[in-house]
Amino acid sequence: MPEIAVTKVERVAVDQNESVRVVHIERPEDWAACPECGVVSTTVRQRRTTRPRDLPYGEEQLTVRWHKRQFACAEPLCPRKAFTESVAEIPPRARVTGRLCRAAARRVACGASVAAACREYRLAWPLVHRHLTALADELLAEPEPVEVLGIDETRRGRARWRKRPDGTWDKLERFETNFVDLSGGQGLLGQAAGRTGSAVVDWLTARGPQWKQAVRVVAIDPAACYRTAIRRSLPHATIVVDHFHLIALANKALTSIRQRVTRDRRGRRGRASDPEWANRHRLLRARERLSEHTFTHMWNALIDHEPTGQILTAWIAKEELRTLLACARERQPRSVISHRLFRFHSWCANSAIPELATLAETIDAWWPETLAFITTQVTNARTEGTNRLIKDVARVAFGFRNLTNQRRRVRLACTHQTINPAA
Ligand SMILES: [Zn+2]
Repeated sequence: MPEIAVTKVERVAVDQNESVRVVHIERPEDWAACPECGVVSTTVRQRRTTRPRDLPYGEEQLTVRWHKRQFACAEPLCPRKAFTESVAEIPPRARVTGRLCRAAARRVACGASVAAACREYRLAWPLVHRHLTALADELLAEPEPVEVLGIDETRRGRARWRKRPDGTWDKLERFETNFVDLSGGQGLLGQAAGRTGSAVVDWLTARGPQWKQAVRVVAIDPAACYRTAIRRSLPHATIVVDHFHLIALANKALTSIRQRVTRDRRGRRGRASDPEWANRHRLLRARERLSEHTFTHMWNALIDHEPTGQILTAWIAKEELRTLLACARERQPRSVISHRLFRFHSWCANSAIPELATLAETIDAWWPETLAFITTQVTNARTEGTNRLIKDVARVAFGFRNLTNQRRRVRLACTHQTINPAA
């Protein structure tokens, strides 16, 4: 009871008629200053008792009775003849206490929707939202400098389709770029609209030169616009590409080769009776996560039923890339890294499969950043955890219309602050 503490708790009594706990409070001072002219008055005109709603006491309802006084203004020239005393916790005309509103705001900060907090505490939406904004302003300060910065994108809302005049469709998607602290405990540092290089440059510029100078490593998805932006804004920082996305590229190449082989051979899409379709998930799983039996079954099915051998060639290319990236975990010397890179490249080149040539070119284009991952072992995995939280917040709210509200709620949820709902 931070603010009510300045008032005097007169008596706590269990009211027999209402069988509820009643707290009677009043201000200890026998004077009050007029809000109009500021002159102190001690002349009490009348007393009133109000019942502002408060938090429950354990499982019981707590009734607060505030015995407040109306004073006559001591200044004859003041247009206000009388005024009623008030405290910050229960402002004039308030029917609920401040701590009830703050408790509702903390419920929202802990993951409830504003509507759910309103139902639980029987409060109005604008009131809870106002206290939530105040709580966010208090908790969400300007981000502290970070050593390892993670940058990636999330889609805001669902993709929408719009018909063009010529009858074709346009896919409309809105993206946000997220900045995450990968070395410290600050969680989500901020968001910027769009997934462009300028969004990254503007956000970093707003942090100031000292903040930028402190960043040592930046982990990004393999997106050229992010790389260009980091090279421009943070020329001293090491750029690391996230290995998860590199393996995802290899898996994508493998899937498109499998689909093309099925189309060429059978003239249709894959079905459960096609061995390559039946093994589609096993193909994407890591080799060490397949049992010997499963691996043999998949291998033999493809040897027996896929005469071109392209799917297995692509699978081996994917595994070669994984072996190369495993140098990070195994802390292999440069000679082993070069050897594995050569093996991956020559396998892709000798296969004469266009999708694998593209994959090898992409790895080549991102080689300095891939090598930086192998030597630093920095991954963007923590930003992926943040992305899940970002989506959860949008789901709980049934989507957002107001971007400012969304950003505030997302950052509250993704900041590694412990908010005690009962504090
Ligand atoms: Zn006055």
